[in-house]
Amino acid sequence: MRKIIHILAISMLLILSTSCGQVKPYETDAFAMGTVISQEVYGSNSQKTSDEVITKIKYLETLLTINAPDGDINKLNGNAGKGYVELNPGTVSVLQSARKISGLSGGAFDVTVGPVVKAWGIGTDNPQVPTEATLKDLVSLIDYADIHLDEAGNMACLQRPGQIIDVGGIAKGYAGDVAKAIYQKNGHKSAFINLGGNVVVLGHKPDGNAWNIGIQNPRSETGEVVGAVQVTDKAVVTSGDYQRYFEKDGKRFCHIIDPQTGYPAESGLMSVTIIASSSAEADGLSTACFVLGLDKGLDLVKRYGQAEAIFITTNKKIHLTKGLQGNFQLKDANNEYTVIQEG
Ligand code: FAD
Ligand code: MG
Repeated sequence: MRKIIHILAISMLLILSTSCGQVKPYETDAFAMGTVISQEVYGSNSQKTSDEVITKIKYLETLLTINAPDGDINKLNGNAGKGYVELNPGTVSVLQSARKISGLSGGAFDVTVGPVVKAWGIGTDNPQVPTEATLKDLVSLIDYADIHLDEAGNMACLQRPGQIIDVGGIAKGYAGDVAKAIYQKNGHKSAFINLGGNVVVLGHKPDGNAWNIGIQNPRSETGEVVGAVQVTDKAVVTSGDYQRYFEKDGKRFCHIIDPQTGYPAESGLMSVTIIASSSAEADGLSTACFVLGLDKGLDLVKRYGQAEAIFITTNKKIHLTKGLQGNFQLKDANNEYTVIQEG
């Protein structure tokens, strides 16, 4: 008898928690890919699903990191100029997305930027300004056309010795897509993941409302938001000059490199947020748009077609693409920013 009462009590508790509309998500934070990864998963087995997502992301990190000796990316880099290497299908998928965004952006996004990223060392303990001569040398190694893929055989090769692939600008985006696929596979209808500025939401929130995603004020020391957008089933990915940088002689050198010059991009932008279905492509696009600047960035978003964007300029203008009309809410306590709605 006691057993039946016990089971009844548990099921009552479950109904209670759902009937008063206070559906609670399983919330977790973890650390991977150099950043905090926050999740909110609704529905049964949400803890199991969250754990599955983190295990998968940590596995992807072993494949895609440039910061550890083995793994696919370093295998590919170690074999540069020497022929094809076999890779995990996930790595090939990241390289395919990278090449797509490189082609669309005219090389503004280019994962073969690795030698230059390494020379600057931004995000490491000893960032430095390389000499002109060094950068001139290293820029000659940047060319996404030198990435050759054999998709059917899950093989890839880098054409020239000394070339280095760095997927820091797209791999977190890919991880966001993988997380969403796991949420869907496990039957969840509402979930949220944030990988250091790379947000992916599944569906609506359980109460039927859209997710409200904050856009960081690029010059706030305390991570305040400057606005928010309402999204369902989208990736919201931001790249900016405030995420990783160092200052020398009063000048800010950020981690996003212009592949043309080998210098950190100075495009008149402080951040670019892309809202799209593919988190990997949004990640590449946000980096590309940051390098291209406002006008060419808006043109790239238009040509890509299935995305909206928020460009925040160094003179504190917030440019919104057409589909965000009436969606973006400004939250600018100090009245520093002006919103401009693009056609
Ligand atoms: P985005 O703004 O999306 O892109 C900037 C990053 O992309 C740069 O950091 C550089 O890596 C690369 N990049 C720069 N310019 C270009 C360009 N024009 N085209 C293409 N790519 C460009 N950080 C740590 O501190 N420690 C770690 O151990 C660590 N491990 C990581 C492992 C993985 C698998 C990944 C994906 C990231 C890791 N990171 C780590 C973070 C990484 O070093 C980058 O700083 C981070 O990915 C930048 O994220 P972002 O969204 O700001 O980049
Ligand atoms: Mg990016």
